Amino acid sequence: MKVIDAHAHLELPIPGVTTNPERKRQPMGLMWEFELLKFNPVLWPLNGLEPSRTLISVENQFRLSMGCPENLLRFMDHHGIERSVVLPVAPFVSARRYLEECRGQDRFIPFATAYPDDGWEMDLKEAMEAGCRGVKINPILQRIAPEDDFYMNLAEVVRPYKRPIISHTGPFDYYTIADGYRCYGDVRRFEKLVAAFPDIPFIFGHSGLAGAQMAIDIAGRYSNVYLETSFQSAGRVRKALGTIGKRRVMFGSDWPESNQKTALSIARKVAGFDKDLLDNLLWRNIEELVG
Ligand SMILES: [Zn+2]
Repeated sequence: MKVIDAHAHLELPIPGVTTNPERKRQPMGLMWEFELLKFNPVLWPLNGLEPSRTLISVENQFRLSMGCPENLLRFMDHHGIERSVVLPVAPFVSARRYLEECRGQDRFIPFATAYPDDGWEMDLKEAMEAGCRGVKINPILQRIAPEDDFYMNLAEVVRPYKRPIISHTGPFDYYTIADGYRCYGDVRRFEKLVAAFPDIPFIFGHSGLAGAQMAIDIAGRYSNVYLETSFQSAGRVRKALGTIGKRRVMFGSDWPESNQKTALSIARKVAGFDKDLLDNLLWRNIEELVG
């Protein structure tokens, strides 16, 4: 069966995390338990409390270190995923690098990324023209507030290409020592951006994590907002479908930060015998946006 993962990464070398292709397995800590418990939302408060927050950050860094094309392909083969949307985050890795890694590999669908350095607008246009199918933003890692003018300007550059913008949404700490930027994941802070560009599809990566209800509410108000299901329980995915219908919710794993298996099984469970809904979740909705 056709499956497109709407959210994966090739590599994401944030400071302190070097890619190690030799690491073949995701470590089994609190994130793993969260997967075993099918992203039970009762556990979300753990992510805000020391020391579990620190342990989750360490485990997440081990997971990030697995990110490379060979490992992603191996996981995709194992879980029956035909294609994955792959998301770079500047300044840690460039769109150009992702395009190079995707050359000759049609199972990866590359997105672009931008960071406010010299010539970013030209670089972004060049990446879109070279084949990127959308743009990834991550306010927490990029340390740029969601309502900042930079993302407004970025959306203006992307607009003519009629491609989606996907963002990490939801408070999260990437570093073991909290850096104070998790609040940039607050999904309410994205409202100004999505309201200003009704013609651009915005995909809320992870559906806002612990802020899923707020993400669902915003998607209910703005028809250009889409919800990607990584780290969300079957109950939350059903709630999203109940509020915004079946054309704007899509399966994503956030590999290597999570295993494709859990999000995939949740999508299948939610769809049940509704084949049409399953197709929408597993490939049709994202395919419509990325062509
Ligand atoms: Zn991600």
